[in-house]
Amino acid sequence: MSMTLHLDTDACAGCGCCGEACAQGALELAEKAVLIEEYCIGCGACIEMCPTGALSLTNHHRGVNP
Ligand code: SF4
Ligand code: SF4
Repeated sequence: MSMTLHLDTDACAGCGCCGEACAQGALELAEKAVLIEEYCIGCGACIEMCPTGALSLTNHHRGVNP
């Protein structure tokens, strides 16, 4: 089952820690974090780095939101 990273931009403080944690280059920092979904492999490494809990993994396949 594929895991999909969810970025809650309202919760994001724009610190950039997640981008440093991501070996895939899937998180860039603009004013806030920007997720590049094509690069994300759902490893979850970025989640532990986020001080505000803005990142989470779900087991929904991407694009299958209710
Ligand atoms: S889940 Fe892994 S690949 Fe995806 S953005 Fe986070 S660190 Fe990068
Ligand atoms: S680590 Fe969390 S708060 Fe910091 S830029 Fe990434 S998503 Fe935003």
